Amino acid sequence: MLVKKISELRKILSQARREGKTIGFVPTMGALHEGHFSLIRAARQETDFLVTSIFVNPTQFAPSEDFAQYPRDLEGDLKKAEEIGVDLVFAPSAEEMYTEGFATYVWQERLTERMCGLSRPGFFRGVATVVTKLFNIVGPCVAYFGQKDYQQSVVVRRMVRDLNMEVEIRVLPTVRQSDGLAMSSRNKHLSESERQEALCLYQALKEAEALVAAGERKSEKIIEKMREIVAGAPSARIDYMVVVDPENLEDIETIEGEVLVALAVWIGKTRLIDNMLISPEKSEA
Ligand code: AMP
Repeated sequence: MLVKKISELRKILSQARREGKTIGFVPTMGALHEGHFSLIRAARQETDFLVTSIFVNPTQFAPSEDFAQYPRDLEGDLKKAEEIGVDLVFAPSAEEMYTEGFATYVWQERLTERMCGLSRPGFFRGVATVVTKLFNIVGPCVAYFGQKDYQQSVVVRRMVRDLNMEVEIRVLPTVRQSDGLAMSSRNKHLSESERQEALCLYQALKEAEALVAAGERKSEKIIEKMREIVAGAPSARIDYMVVVDPENLEDIETIEGEVLVALAVWIGKTRLIDNMLISPEKSEA
């Protein structure tokens, strides 16, 4: 079922709640792929009434970014969503979400001030604002996010805690193609040769994992090796590469426990991100 109006969504969800159903919610920007489906399948199993939103949120794109070019395929998405058992697809217009005179944003400190937040100023303000709006519209629910956008999941968890939202957050592992490339709607923009070069993100992460397994504990050394791998791809340009604490996203110099290794790389005109949680204990086992 496709719903475009907030008031209609609220009516349907109140009815579902009256029937004692729990609500599962998977927010997306559409162009659905296996990464989204893994969240949808989990939500389908764990909750009674499943809502997926499809909304390319204008407030999280800077004017210079790819809002206009972002892949859109509402018809295809609706078919796939129905096949996989989504009860309701919420696909509002930008005008429905941002009424004239819109002036209120959610701004989070610290966690948003690094990694993707540094290279995309205003991005997390847009994300936090739209996720807050969507949570307010959907109401109490279990909401599903992907580890692929690790920083986003940390920011959303923090926001839910800080603002006392009645939402339980679940974060599920990154779904990859068979050669390791993380699924992403933006992969559609890659040419055949860029698609091959895009593998350097995953290769760099695997190298980081191997180095830690071999006993390397200095983040600097790991990043150096990762840089070398990415430098081997002619169209690649590094945006950032970090080894950070998975909870507070602060830089780690010497690895002692689990770390998040994350990177953003431009492949031609397409910016891709990926990450891996790496733990020295696990690697040594
Ligand atoms: P997006 O449509 O790209 O905004 O993504 C919507 C949700 O799907 C976010 O929570 C993403 O983290 C998640 N997601 C996107 N790609 C993947 C992937 N390859 N594996 C797991 N989750 C993903």
